[in-house]
Amino acid sequence: MRSQSESTLLRIPLEIRNQVLGYLITDQLHVILHKGALHWSICIEPELAFDLDGSERNLQGQTHSEKTWARRLRSSWGPHWRCEEFFQDRGRGKHTLDGALELDYVCKQVYNEVHALMASNTMFQITDLETLCYASTSKDTGARQLSFLHDVGRRVIANLVRLDITLRLPLSVWESIESGTSMLASPQAVAWMGIGTAIGQLQRLTKLSIWLDHDQQCSWSAVNERCILAPLLPLAKILRLVLPKLHPDLETSERHFTEDSASPFQIRRVLRQRYHAQSNEHHDPRNDASQDPPTKVIFKGDFPITLETCRFFYEPDFTSASLEEIEEDERDKWRRGVDVELWMKNLQDQLDDFSPHEYVDI
Ligand SMILES: [Zn+2]
Repeated sequence: MRSQSESTLLRIPLEIRNQVLGYLITDQLHVILHKGALHWSICIEPELAFDLDGSERNLQGQTHSEKTWARRLRSSWGPHWRCEEFFQDRGRGKHTLDGALELDYVCKQVYNEVHALMASNTMFQITDLETLCYASTSKDTGARQLSFLHDVGRRVIANLVRLDITLRLPLSVWESIESGTSMLASPQAVAWMGIGTAIGQLQRLTKLSIWLDHDQQCSWSAVNERCILAPLLPLAKILRLVLPKLHPDLETSERHFTEDSASPFQIRRVLRQRYHAQSNEHHDPRNDASQDPPTKVIFKGDFPITLETCRFFYEPDFTSASLEEIEEDERDKWRRGVDVELWMKNLQDQLDDFSPHEYVDI
């Protein structure tokens, strides 16, 4: 570091200096625990669209194999799959991507001012429980082997104001929390149960968003929301939850925060991923141990499962309908006792017999 008297930056009034430094600080930044150290990588999806079905991961105009598409669909970073690719391809180990940390070397005063600005202005993104627990609850060990920037990261995180958490966990983790019997066998379940305590360590935190899903093709309704979200109750005042839509035929007010049941949380429901990677169950590694199981991408509609049908095929009255109108129509069908999934299956079987705009009255 240079001496403070040499710094031109320090001769600028604080208010203007903060504006200058503010331009150099990234709005959103991923924090990742990798090989025992905190890494930083820019978030390249700052304006996430909520209603994405997974088709966007098969980028148009680019030649990708189905294997690439399948890998993206399996990303534990969920809607931040592009950020994961960026981190793996270019970002790993480059702690100073945001530019701001370069300024750490200017002088001690600017060093502190940059940290304060980052903690106040940057939205920090975390996509796994290991990073969250490590960054928020571990005391500073003062271990010599910790890198300078790693130590900086710990201090910035301890003072952060805005945090966005994205967790696409195995369904088995959510199920183990509900059962309560096999929790010790799942480190992720144990970490999740401590999430309230971990985030509670971030004493300046005022805005918290948590996006959740599981990794299977079945509906999110398989998860007992009231059980798994209990650890978040102490955070309800600052928390905004983003959860997949519930299935009208599977939701219950005992297990889920349904529209007509009380909830302590602010919840936004979003469309769930509709394209999934599926491995060949019959692959025998003894025959070809060097190869991963063959994988294909399949489509499996979640609520509203009539979305594509309404928009593109059979119900011309719905081709311009909003998502909300399509959902209400499907809810009404379920209420009237129509098995919409069976109806859809029959419809698929008869696909060739229908003209593209023939209305199907059920
Ligand atoms: Zn991101």
